[in-house]
Amino acid sequence: MQHNSLATMDNLRRRNTQGQDVNATCIFCGKAEETTKHIVFSCAITIWKDIYVLNSNKERNRWQVIWCAVTWNIWKARNNSRFRGVQFLKEKTYQDIIYFSWLWLSMDSSFQYNYQEWIVNPGACL
Ligand SMILES: [Zn+2]
Repeated sequence: MQHNSLATMDNLRRRNTQGQDVNATCIFCGKAEETTKHIVFSCAITIWKDIYVLNSNKERNRWQVIWCAVTWNIWKARNNSRFRGVQFLKEKTYQDIIYFSWLWLSMDSSFQYNYQEWIVNPGACL
């Protein structure tokens, strides 16, 4: 993602793998060209606003895990929508982010919150 190498529609078009007439519009909002920056930072900003409340105590390592869960689930939802015809549902993506954040955070033995505690108040678990 750092080197703008994700196979977003703008990059595929630039690499000329999809032809110039392919629909490069964002699969989530349908309002902008699908670029890495748009998917992760602009379009998904509504998801970030929901997630941001989790960042109450700002523990850096845990926040990085959440960042990975956010970007990975957005990319997964994009691929499911674009290539498998699965309807994008923000709430489902949000729930997936919450689940995978908890799952990955739980791999660290110092994170000792059960899923119910995480769902009810993730900010208190960080
Ligand atoms: Zn969009």
